[in-house]
Amino acid sequence: MKIISINAGSSSLKFSLINMENENVIANGVFERIGIDGHYKIKFEGKTYEEDTELKNHSDAVNILLEKLINLKIVKSLDEIEGVGHRVVQGKDVFDKSVIVDDDVLQKLESIKHFAPLHNPANMLGIKAFMKALPNVPNTVVFDTAFHQTMDKETYIYPVPYEWYEKYGIRKYGAHGTSHRYITETVSDILNTKNFKLISCHIGNGASITAVKDGKCVDTSMGFTPLAGVMMGTRSGDIDPSILPPVMEAENKTIDDIINDLNKHSGILGMSGISSDMRDLTEAYNKNDERAILTMNKYARRITDYIAQYYVLLKGTDIIVFTAGIGENSFLTRKLVCDNLKCLGVEIDEEKNKNCHGKELISTPNSKIKIYVIPTDEELMIAKDTLNLIKKK
Ligand code: ADP
Repeated sequence: MKIISINAGSSSLKFSLINMENENVIANGVFERIGIDGHYKIKFEGKTYEEDTELKNHSDAVNILLEKLINLKIVKSLDEIEGVGHRVVQGKDVFDKSVIVDDDVLQKLESIKHFAPLHNPANMLGIKAFMKALPNVPNTVVFDTAFHQTMDKETYIYPVPYEWYEKYGIRKYGAHGTSHRYITETVSDILNTKNFKLISCHIGNGASITAVKDGKCVDTSMGFTPLAGVMMGTRSGDIDPSILPPVMEAENKTIDDIINDLNKHSGILGMSGISSDMRDLTEAYNKNDERAILTMNKYARRITDYIAQYYVLLKGTDIIVFTAGIGENSFLTRKLVCDNLKCLGVEIDEEKNKNCHGKELISTPNSKIKIYVIPTDEELMIAKDTLNLIKKK
């Protein structure tokens, strides 16, 4: 059985074709610059096929993708594709799990799309393009927010006028839920139990920390939008909102300009003035660049802040997991964070931390909390949900 996982953005569409018998990726790639000019890249059996081609809209991208799956002999017939799973960024409190797309789901998606105006409408374009191209194949939607729907009200409510919640749906929704759920299930397999206290650190270009108890999310660092929580590649994370008016006035900026600064010009990039990429920051840190050292320490500190908060919330922690681009690859970030956590009895094996590739335990046997690196796999999670929903149909 083959399933396609789709992540559609406003001008791009990423795909992974997965063989569900062995959970291996058969082919993957990206269609980019949709609506601008168009380019695609497909990876299959160690080769990369890429070409500039006109992509007027998402339907063009889907049609060319399906054509290429046949032409490159990735599949013999499109009938081999039994389901398409779509990542959707915001499910609000309307969706607490993945579902098969039908008219009711489409209507609900339409009604909440303004909660993630940059993402949800694009996700929906991907869904509609597949519904048109493969009308007999079920589509499913897998939400970044769904895993966080188990947070209780005391956690998701903001200490602002209560009417904002009632009238405008202002509350914490979180993000990266599919990744945190993948980590939770993987930890459950590793520990061979569903009863554990986990802090899952998804730290890539975007970053969020999630507290999990007995398989369920109890709190997460992102908020109403993915701008909240820890500092990230280009996002500030939590700040005092009173910072904004004096800067807006001094620089003659609108609220949109300043939110754009917080999303695109802050975090590692803004603080260091070097780059949003941890590899560049690490290089400068190793050369003793003063601002790089300050940024690196602040970055580790913000992650530590959330881990400490969740340690108390969970009343202890069995396991901390590092995942995503930085969590999986930056041993310096893991080292600085774990050094900050020594007072909780955290002890890492420096060699294991430095040389870690893939899924690995990097704490020592003496450590009071197990520290793991686990590569995340959101595409597989989307495909697994799709398979499970199709089976139930
Ligand atoms: P996103 O999905 O949020 O775009 P990823 O999880 O793919 O992000 O993470 C991308 C980030 O991971 C890069 O911006 C970079 O900071 C970091 N990264 C990737 N590879 C490495 C590496 N080898 N060492 C350190 N950091 C890395």
